[in-house]
Amino acid sequence: MKLRWALVTGATAGIGYAIAENLAKRSINLYITGRRKDRLDKMREHFQKEYGIVVQELNYDIQSFEESEKALSDIQELDILVNNAGLALGTEKFDEGHVNDWDQMIDTNVKGLLYTTRLLMPAIKHKKGYIINLGSVAGRYVYPGGAVYNASKFAVRAISEGLRMDLLGTGIRVTNIEQGMVETEFSVVRFKDDKEKADQVYQGLKPLTAEDIAQTVMWCIDQPKHVNVQELVIYPTDQASVYHVHRQ
Ligand code: NAP
Repeated sequence: MKLRWALVTGATAGIGYAIAENLAKRSINLYITGRRKDRLDKMREHFQKEYGIVVQELNYDIQSFEESEKALSDIQELDILVNNAGLALGTEKFDEGHVNDWDQMIDTNVKGLLYTTRLLMPAIKHKKGYIINLGSVAGRYVYPGGAVYNASKFAVRAISEGLRMDLLGTGIRVTNIEQGMVETEFSVVRFKDDKEKADQVYQGLKPLTAEDIAQTVMWCIDQPKHVNVQELVIYPTDQASVYHVHRQ
């Protein structure tokens, strides 16, 4: 069956943008979400012109259930949902952590993903669709200064497992992509616009690119309907684990 519509949360940057563009290249119409309207506008214009698809902008904050409900309630058919929007804030040790940062990580990475998936479930069921969650290796191993971000990505892993159990028999596939270091705006956000600190994260090593992850997602989608890649762990060659990185 032809894939007609996909929705990518957090499509304005990094991994979300790359996944959206790869879907557009396959002539799949897109719902793109994000808080930065100027970027959504540019994307819509570019993708429609370049790839001849229909692009619908959904400009809202996925932390809000009310905003999510308003943005998503008209969607009746969805072949692919990519739960990508997410962030890490800070690397302080727990006893110095900021409650506002914790709230934003939990509200975006966990609650936003839950709201989106629940609200779109009838549309996904209608098409026996595919749910792709962008988890992280941070959802498999905890590292110092990462407790709350780690907890949010452990939650994504648990939700992905739970979804597979609860949706068994519906034909809906659920994949949790768990990537290591990918150079995007992720570290700039984590270090609150301190570009120098963000650059240090990738210094002397070759990180993954957003396009690498997008290709991985396309490979999952390309598997026949009876094949569900449940989890896919991907690191750069220069990273052996969350604790082991090789720098020149
Ligand atoms: P990024 O370049 O910072 O992009 C994050 C995207 O999420 C942006 O489009 C942002 O859009 C959106 N977003 C954040 N908060 C949002 C909110 N409240 N409502 C709507 N959209 C929101 O980061 P990335 O590396 O592509 O990250 C994508 C996903 O991969 C995240 O879930 C992240 O945790 C995960 N991940 C990344 C890495 C890495 O090393 N980069 C590693 C493991 C996992 P707006 O700002 O326009 O809203």
